[in-house]
Amino acid sequence: MKRTESDALKQVIHLASALKAPRVAECAERLAETAREQHWSHEDYLAAVLEREVAARNASGAELRIRAAGLPARKSLEDFDFTLQSGLRGPMAALALGSYLAEARNVVLLGPPGTGKTHLATGLAIAAAHQGHRVLFASASEWVNRLSEAHRHGDLARELARLARYGLLVIDEVGYLPFEQDAANLFFQLVSSRYERASLILTSNLAFSAWGAVFRDQVVAAAMIDRIVHHAEVLTLKGASYRLRGREKDSLPSVALTAQNSES
Ligand code: ADP
Ligand code: MG
Repeated sequence: MKRTESDALKQVIHLASALKAPRVAECAERLAETAREQHWSHEDYLAAVLEREVAARNASGAELRIRAAGLPARKSLEDFDFTLQSGLRGPMAALALGSYLAEARNVVLLGPPGTGKTHLATGLAIAAAHQGHRVLFASASEWVNRLSEAHRHGDLARELARLARYGLLVIDEVGYLPFEQDAANLFFQLVSSRYERASLILTSNLAFSAWGAVFRDQVVAAAMIDRIVHHAEVLTLKGASYRLRGREKDSLPSVALTAQNSES
């Protein structure tokens, strides 16, 4: 390297540190060599160096958002085996691009236990975090607890405003536990506060027709479903539980128990 080049490089490293851009310092020399070999323009070189810094910053931002999201496990869409849910491959690939988030559309994943609803919701949450959205994941009962708590402290409006800063909220397992009457109203307020403003992903093992019973209030449930599905992709998962795949049906405890009972 010529004397002036190494001086310039030292200055680049110094300036990168002043800008708190460590990746610029790391790659400036290596990329300069490549640039000379491959006759890049000055603009191409500068773009290549800055791109490294931006990519690294985006990645660490995504990592922070993923860690703050409260995901139950780190399951990505790439980990999902679509041969078992082949009808979902296309719709999920489209959702993974994230335009539903910009349009404040919702995603509803319905289907029996173990078919991959939580996995797909988590995968979409990770994809959203990579696209720069803040994400929060919790089960329906955790959401109700959180909102009840805020309500008790007279803080519900503030809590909903705080949640509005998240591009995506995931509400997992609607229907596993029935709610109290108050809870239905709190839930309704959450759904209303997001309506046409920001996205929700909901998962449920129950068809919409059964939500009235879960919320113990047909009118509130109907009003809520109306707002959820007005702009939504509703995807239905089918088939047997992935958790129990490969097991013989009659080796399942519940089946064995029934067989024993009928023998006695
Ligand atoms: P659900 O929420 O519908 O009850 P989960 O998403 O929790 O189901 O899936 C149960 C388990 O099976 C999880 O560990 C999940 O990662 C896994 N799983 C389910 N479906 C698939 C699939 N098609 N490919 C890979 N893993 C799957
Ligand atoms: Mg689940």
